[in-house]
Amino acid sequence: MSVRVRYAPSPTGSPHVGNIRTALFNDLFARRHGGTNILRIEDTDRSRSVPGCEADIVESLKYVGIQWQEGYGAGGDCGPYVQSERSLAGLYDPHWNRLIESGFAYWAFDTPQELEEMRKSQTDQGLATGYFGGAWRDASEVEREKARAEGRPGVVRLRIPRDETIIVMDGVRGKIEYPSNTLDDPVLIKSDGMPTYHFAAMVDDHLMGVTHIFRGEEWLGSAPKHIVLFKSLGWDPPEMVHLPVIKGRDGSKLSKRHGDTAALDFRRQGYLGVALANFIALIGWSPGGDKEVMSINEMAEAFEIRGIQPSSGVFDLDKLMWMQGVHVRGMDTGSLLSEVKGYASNPETESYWAAHPDSGVNMRGLSYFADDSRHDLQASAVELVKERVTTLADFGKASLFVLEAPSSYEEAALVKWKAVPTTSQVVQSVAEGLTTDAGMGPSDFEGLLRSVQTSLRIEKLGPVVHPVRLALTGASTGPGLFELMAVLGSTDCRERLERFLADL
Ligand code: GLU
Repeated sequence: MSVRVRYAPSPTGSPHVGNIRTALFNDLFARRHGGTNILRIEDTDRSRSVPGCEADIVESLKYVGIQWQEGYGAGGDCGPYVQSERSLAGLYDPHWNRLIESGFAYWAFDTPQELEEMRKSQTDQGLATGYFGGAWRDASEVEREKARAEGRPGVVRLRIPRDETIIVMDGVRGKIEYPSNTLDDPVLIKSDGMPTYHFAAMVDDHLMGVTHIFRGEEWLGSAPKHIVLFKSLGWDPPEMVHLPVIKGRDGSKLSKRHGDTAALDFRRQGYLGVALANFIALIGWSPGGDKEVMSINEMAEAFEIRGIQPSSGVFDLDKLMWMQGVHVRGMDTGSLLSEVKGYASNPETESYWAAHPDSGVNMRGLSYFADDSRHDLQASAVELVKERVTTLADFGKASLFVLEAPSSYEEAALVKWKAVPTTSQVVQSVAEGLTTDAGMGPSDFEGLLRSVQTSLRIEKLGPVVHPVRLALTGASTGPGLFELMAVLGSTDCRERLERFLADL
């Protein structure tokens, strides 16, 4: 049987790190087994649905490189793939009707006040709260008819069997036994006629031929109810894999308090989708071996359920930054440039950083990358600075000196080199040596600086290189000077050196 998995988000907000990990594991597992990944939108809880959020879901998945072959936006034979549409189409009706007919489910007509009183009395007695039968599990048909006639709104509840052991085989935690008497009777159909998550998701998993459920650990407690539901419908449950929670470095569950956690926030910050995917996949999953920096396909090749750790995973921003740097340095210049250009020209970038005025992000530097007429210089800038940046946002500041002459010079370095008697002669001689713009490569510039060193009888190359770097970039550190000079070209270098001399 071929593998079929699904990522089934509720459209309650922009997907965060935890959602993305679930989505990724589904995708990795499908790729690993040549299976199908399905995207299903679970919007039956209308009160929690955020309009338009499906677009964020799709954007987020695409950003990190997740693929789905079937479902929302992709079509397929098991549609529609939005649960509210499935409900409207009556797809759930035969299944809950069958459960009622066979006695595996029942109508209950408790009012919200009655349910609240029950909860309160359970709490007062120190009992577990929930619907363990209530007034309606064993009510007669006559009583139910009477409630209907009174116009009481009703819900359909699953009748959890008594005195049994429900076994959940979890891919991460193994066999877990639940005494059925500890499970309350969950609502399957709400009074507005909409199915609950418990019902809709499990029916859909069956109808869509899902073989493996990868979902967050918060659903582990519901898993025995889902097993009962499958059995009551006479269906075989899929394999279940519950993914451990993700925590912040302070040990608490990852949340907004820890800062940006939505995938699209990381895109706005300038993280590469592949780096974010790589980082998130390794929270709680070990690919085995030493290799950590991987593409999605490499991760898929290594993906095994047994590599998922039962303990909670930690979201470590330093690790993300490290991983991002490694991915940036590993990319070829063309691909990297197109990432930087895409980032620079995305209107989100500017609005995101406008809200972070102290971030040090240089929008002017980035805006050069949005300008298509300067392709060669942009490519050279990316090549020159990629060893020294982390995020795509960093390219703005790091590349600025390539794209425009410095408007000021680093104060301490300026004071230092001004005080050295050879400085102005060094800068003057290098400028004079820059007569032709034709085809000077890094070694030609090195030759020029060395000949200036020799003719001025300077013992070391430092007093030549450093003032020239300061004059060209405004900074005392940066990428290789000779490579930089080759990128700028003689004319630009000469102009910058002359301006520096005038300022001295
Ligand atoms: N709609 C559920 C959620 O967003 C998905 C749970 C599942 O994957 O079954 O949490």
